[in-house]
Amino acid sequence: MRRHLVTGGAGFIGSHLCEALVEAGDEVVCVDDLSSGSEANVAHLRASGRFELIIDDACQVLGDVVGPFDTVAHLACPASPADYLAHPLETLAVGSKGTEAALRLAQARGARFVLASTSEVYGEPLVHPQTEAYWGNVNPVGLRSVYDEAKRFSEALTAAYRRTVGTDTGIVRIFNTYGPRLRPGDGRVVSNFIVQALAGEPLTVYGDGSQTRSLCYVDDLVQGLLAMIRSHTPGPVNLGNPAEFTVKDIASLVVELAASSSPISYQPLPEDDPTRRRPDISKARDVLGWAPTVAPEEGLRRTIKWFAKDRCVASAC
Ligand code: UDP
Repeated sequence: MRRHLVTGGAGFIGSHLCEALVEAGDEVVCVDDLSSGSEANVAHLRASGRFELIIDDACQVLGDVVGPFDTVAHLACPASPADYLAHPLETLAVGSKGTEAALRLAQARGARFVLASTSEVYGEPLVHPQTEAYWGNVNPVGLRSVYDEAKRFSEALTAAYRRTVGTDTGIVRIFNTYGPRLRPGDGRVVSNFIVQALAGEPLTVYGDGSQTRSLCYVDDLVQGLLAMIRSHTPGPVNLGNPAEFTVKDIASLVVELAASSSPISYQPLPEDDPTRRRPDISKARDVLGWAPTVAPEEGLRRTIKWFAKDRCVASAC
């Protein structure tokens, strides 16, 4: 049986990864301080007898975790702009101290280390679509830098561990991902729009809505993560769905799929909000044999269904 440590394993993507590893028959230790994750995301995994949740800060606790590991997957980090802008110092800490603690643990146990990096390392991209060879265009002192630079530092530290002490490392750059277990209030585009559409409230489009994002369904993303965990490739490798939409089109699609009559309400564009984003996934296809399979319309339909059911349960209907 393989044993994995997942930091941030009670979060949105982390909980789906833990679930996939447990379903594959493996054992998982999840470290999460529940700052943006939730115990409810992983409670069902306990029945397997192969899942343990340690509620603590990855920066503090990793030195004390016992036993062998085949993998250390470092996902802990606020990922919604609203969350990391509200917790700038914690975001920088988990990207620096947390990444170092996770790398040390992996090195000490002879485990593969997988870093969940981000398309935000490309900042406001001057190359489109973004390939891994592109170095990015990040404002190092802007509001978003607490996330972007923390992840860029995480990548640099990961590459340095590989070069200097030979840790088996892998970096994935995750593009916008959506699906069940997105926190309704986390502020990201898909969760905001779905919650607003289901409530019949106006959809808050920031700016004129012409900025683009490419949306990947969480099950697809997890398959990419599993492929990275099971390989020895260093990356970085982009993981995302190249299906690119303007934010305004995402709003229209959600309204249509939710059979909603919500109007659009235009709001100010946040500082340094990237104008466009789309992954080139040639490398993921070549080195991991991975590509997404769920069309955005289908993924959004499933996600809307999950939100509708969740809201229904919440109101005991
Ligand atoms: N956005 C929006 N309305 C919202 C939330 C987000 O128009 O209620 C826009 C945001 O300005 C950005 C895009 O949707 O251009 C994606 O935002 P998100 O916060 O999901 O993640 P990002 O890709 O910016 O990290």
